[in-house]
Amino acid sequence: MTRLFRAALLPLLALLAACASTPSTPPAVERLYVISCGENHTQDLSRWTPGENVGKAHVFGDHCYLIKHAKGWMLWDSGNADRLAALPNGLTNPAGTITAYMKKPLADSLKELGVAPADIAYFAMSHSHGDHSGNANLFPASTIYMQESEYEAVFGANAEKSGMPLANFEKLKGAKFVKLRGDHDVFGDGSVVIKSTPGHTPGHQCLLVLLPRRGPVLLTGDLVHLQYSWQNNIVPGFNYDVPQSKGSLAAMKDLASKTGAQVWVNHDKEQHAAIPKAPAFVE
Ligand SMILES: [Zn+2]
Repeated sequence: MTRLFRAALLPLLALLAACASTPSTPPAVERLYVISCGENHTQDLSRWTPGENVGKAHVFGDHCYLIKHAKGWMLWDSGNADRLAALPNGLTNPAGTITAYMKKPLADSLKELGVAPADIAYFAMSHSHGDHSGNANLFPASTIYMQESEYEAVFGANAEKSGMPLANFEKLKGAKFVKLRGDHDVFGDGSVVIKSTPGHTPGHQCLLVLLPRRGPVLLTGDLVHLQYSWQNNIVPGFNYDVPQSKGSLAAMKDLASKTGAQVWVNHDKEQHAAIPKAPAFVE
C-alpha cells in the first residue's frame, strides 16, 4: 500500500467506523397503499351526527390500508366483504339504515400489487363491524392484533349476543391472535403503533403510522365517521359506549396535536379523494 493511498484511505475508514458506531436507521415503514374497500350509503346521516343532517342522504367511503414495513406486510382493516361485489344493488342491513357496496374485491386489489393474502404477516382491524371485518377470513395465516375486549365480544361465551358479524371470523378460530390491553408498538420501532380507543366498540383501536416522507398519519377507524365529526367532537349515539368514545376522541386529538399527525378519517370519502389510491402509494 503506498503512503499516498493509505493517507486517502484512513479518513474513509474512520468515517465508515463512525457510521457503524452510530445507531443505524431503524427498520421502518417504506410505503402505504390506500385501497378502496367499498361504500356505505345511507338515507339519513343523522344516525352518525346526532341532531344534525336529519333525512340527509350520504355516501361513506370505506378504506383498507396496506403497509409495507421492512419486516413485512401489514393490513389495517379489511372493508366490506368481497362477495358484495356480485350484488349491484348492494346489501341493505335489516334495519334499512345502510346499504353496503363493494365495487372491487380486496383480494383483487391485493393481487394487482403482487400481494397474496398469505403474504400479510401482520393484520389488525380498527374494530369488528362488518364494514371493517368483511374480508377478515382471508387472513387466517396472519398474526392478528386485537384488543382483548374486542376478542371477547367476537369469540367469547356471549359472542352471539354481541351483535358482531361472527361469520366474518369463522376461519380465524385457530389463528394466532395477539390480545392487547392498550397501545401496542407493532414492529418495536415506533413506526406503527396501535392506539387503544374504546367506545365505538369495546375494543376499538386506531393506528398511528410514521411515513418516511409525510410523517405521522393517524388512521381513525370509526373513532369518528367524518372530518366534520373530528372537528366538532361528534360520535354516533349507537356506539357501544358514548362517553368512552368521547374520551377516546379527546385522547386522539391530543395525540394528533402533539405529534402533528395528519388524521385520515376512514369513512370520509371527500377527504380520501385527495389521497392517492392503490396501485399508487404514499411515502
Ligand atoms: Zn365503519
